[in-house]
Amino acid sequence: MANAPRRWHSVPVDDRGNAVCVIGAGSSGLAAVKNLLEHGFAVDCYDRETGIGGAWNIRHDRSPVYSSTHLISSKPMTQFPDFPLPDHWPDYPHHSQLLAYFERYADHFGLREHIWFGTEVVSADPIENDRWRVRVRPSHGGGAERELSYAAVVVANGHNSHPRTPALPGIEDFRGKVIHSSSYKDAAVLRGKKVLVIGGGNTGCDIAVEAAQQAAGCWHSTRRGYWYAPKYVFGRPADQVNDATQWLPLRLRQWAFHRVLRLTVGDLTRFGLRKPDHKVYETHPIVNSQLVYYVGHGAITPVTDVKRFNARTVEFEDGTEAEPDLVVLATGYAPRFEFLDPGILGANPPRLWLHMFAPRHPTLAVAGLVQPDSGQFPLVHWQTQAIARWLTLRTTNPERAAQIWAGAADRAEWRWTKAKVSATERHWFEVSHVTYLKAVESLLKELTA
Ligand SMILES: Cc1cc2nc3c(=O)[nH]c(=O)nc-3n(C[C@H](O)[C@H](O)[C@H](O)COP(=O)(O)OP(=O)(O)OC[C@H]3O[C@@H](n4cnc5c(N)ncnc54)[C@H](O)[C@@H]3O)c2cc1C
Repeated sequence: MANAPRRWHSVPVDDRGNAVCVIGAGSSGLAAVKNLLEHGFAVDCYDRETGIGGAWNIRHDRSPVYSSTHLISSKPMTQFPDFPLPDHWPDYPHHSQLLAYFERYADHFGLREHIWFGTEVVSADPIENDRWRVRVRPSHGGGAERELSYAAVVVANGHNSHPRTPALPGIEDFRGKVIHSSSYKDAAVLRGKKVLVIGGGNTGCDIAVEAAQQAAGCWHSTRRGYWYAPKYVFGRPADQVNDATQWLPLRLRQWAFHRVLRLTVGDLTRFGLRKPDHKVYETHPIVNSQLVYYVGHGAITPVTDVKRFNARTVEFEDGTEAEPDLVVLATGYAPRFEFLDPGILGANPPRLWLHMFAPRHPTLAVAGLVQPDSGQFPLVHWQTQAIARWLTLRTTNPERAAQIWAGAADRAEWRWTKAKVSATERHWFEVSHVTYLKAVESLLKELTA
């Protein structure tokens, strides 16, 4: 009997037949559940939290958002293609609106009944016939572990829940308070403090701006100079202007962007900010209209990389010193897949075809492991469409599926950006949305040809 429990390695295993296991009910997991259901699959989705929304649900223990977080990608560039964000919402909605949007998405497509909340996936192991043995347990204690077997696994566990903390010389001697931005929720913690924010990414810039408004002083330490894109250019959200110029050659777009910034914001070095050592589009975009403004007001002091911490002071590479009482490490997050054997996804960072398919495991796919120069959800929508069609093709036309899969290992080394983005762990999955969507589109055509 297909659904009767069977014994596997002397542990009872629920055989879920052709069902697919989805790990995570954030934006990527929800899109995966919806698109797999639409393709006729039975789906069991597990999330260790008790609600949907993943990163965008500020009540979740590991949510990286803070009370002031708004989208940095604008509405039309961010929404799922088949479920628009409401017209009357602003260009850059607040995180609470994003959560409401995912709640509506889940209700509209009837996804909740397929999600097991408060359930953590402890391990997912390949077994015979490309199937997967998945071990789950209640995430808040109590209850027994269960083992189930699935035809395929879609990993949608997000890449913003494991704080990356760099080795900072002398930090163990520092007497002030040190937090990672993952535990920063509200500007109240900055009030009246002398704050050092380390990290030039979007979160670091946001917190530096909040420190400029609330703290007694703010130093902002970055390893290099960055391009700070304003949220609006020519009266339009900057990513929409960027999108409208995609037909131009990259060099021309880079030149035009540098020119626009020069004409509007001006020469960043005049403000004491460092000259970027790279062209625009060669690092993940920093979108912040206020950072330069507050640097210009003297409320943020830009400083270079940290050289070392002392008991009370911090020395920087350029010889300057600061005496903060609170240090915020806005040093980002690292993708982690603790429930998978390290060999399964290959190297670290994982080399996946289209940042999605593990070449050695045709029934394992990752959704959402992309960092685009625009909103992420449209890319994940098409990723999960491709995953659903791929899994369908494996059963309807195994020969054709094998032909397509033959090049997967080589294609896992390909990058999906025209700009020279560094191949560090931080930037490995950086993609240009147009280049990436074109590649997914051609895969979708291959899968339906
Ligand atoms: C501050 C901030 C601002 C951002 N701004 C934007 C923006 O403006 N535009 C944009 O497009 N993107 C933005 N992002 C990127 C953001 O990561 C994506 O928008 C998106 O939320 C990622 O969704 P996800 O589903 O892939 O991951 P997550 O939202 O992190 O969801 C992963 C889910 O998996 C669950 N999970 C993990 N491991 C397990 C396990 N072992 N068992 C069971 N469940 C598990 C988690 O509980 C979680 O619910 C921002 C990110 C941050 C940190």
